[in-house]
Amino acid sequence: TPQTIAFVGLGNMGGPMAANLVRAGHSVRGFDLAPASLETAKAEGIGIVGSVLEAVDGAAVVVTMLPAGRHVIEVWSQVVEAVPAGTLLIDSSTVDVASARQAHALAEARGCWGVDAPVSGGTGGAKAGTLTFMAGGAEEAFAAAEPILRRMGKSVFHCGAAGAGQAAKICNNMILGISMIGVCEAFALGEKLGLSQQALFDVASVSSGQCWSLTTYCPVPGPVPTSPANTGYKPGFAAALMLKDLRLAQEAAAAAGAATPLGAEAERLYATFGEAGHGGEDFSAIIRMLRGPSEE
Ligand code: NAD
Repeated sequence: TPQTIAFVGLGNMGGPMAANLVRAGHSVRGFDLAPASLETAKAEGIGIVGSVLEAVDGAAVVVTMLPAGRHVIEVWSQVVEAVPAGTLLIDSSTVDVASARQAHALAEARGCWGVDAPVSGGTGGAKAGTLTFMAGGAEEAFAAAEPILRRMGKSVFHCGAAGAGQAAKICNNMILGISMIGVCEAFALGEKLGLSQQALFDVASVSSGQCWSLTTYCPVPGPVPTSPANTGYKPGFAAALMLKDLRLAQEAAAAAGAATPLGAEAERLYATFGEAGHGGEDFSAIIRMLRGPSEE
């Protein structure tokens, strides 16, 4: 059934996600602080308004897709003051687990339903409607959110209570950051040992070194023609966004008392890579740094 949905944050991800809700027949009212984002959204059939409060007026569902936790808290604080009890609030931004739980508490205090539902799949997945959603929140809240999430994504998982979606997201991306560095180190070592990249790929891709960073996102050009290494490391998934997720994982690990030594090292390496001016490159480009300065 078509619903009136408020969408706050119409950037690289939020814009195309909101457009898919319009295509599904929903009436979408959108707000963003950036005029450029509003213009693009307008062309996609999203009803553009001038404030968060105008966007949520009469909306049964509110979706946020914002840069970080503080933006989500700021917007959800305004939203819960304005909407009736029973309104469903979905946040699909990638934020720290503590902020996600704080946002849930804001919603709950006003009798609203909250769902943290971060995504993987990037801007390509947002446009194509093939994102993966990992959601946290009460069973009833997830049940209400699921049909909406399915219009923007292909896979939707209920991972547990408040914050479980964000927890799943940062744990997954910590595996990804660490495994990418591992694959890059193996290629850098293989090169120094005179091993061809293709030979290493052929063996590792069907052996115990097999992983997504190798077989889907191979950091050297050739073996996987669709990987960013073949197009000068144009993202893809920018190194700066990987660093963001690794930082969130380290924050969560510190707060929870979890030992994540390789996660910490991966964060340090991506920070160094970013400081050297490479944050806008695909995260697999870190192989250039790992090969050492002489070959960069
Ligand atoms: P973006 O910077 O393109 O978009 C964020 C938008 O939020 C901007 O247009 C900004 O103007 C708007 N905004 C900020 N504060 C606001 C406020 N108070 N009210 C209204 N609008 C506000 O970022 P993005 O790439 O769309 O990413 C959004 C989120 O999704 C981030 O948390 C990011 O980590 C996550 N994410 C991004 C990707 C990706 O590949 N880009 C993939 C997965 C997850």
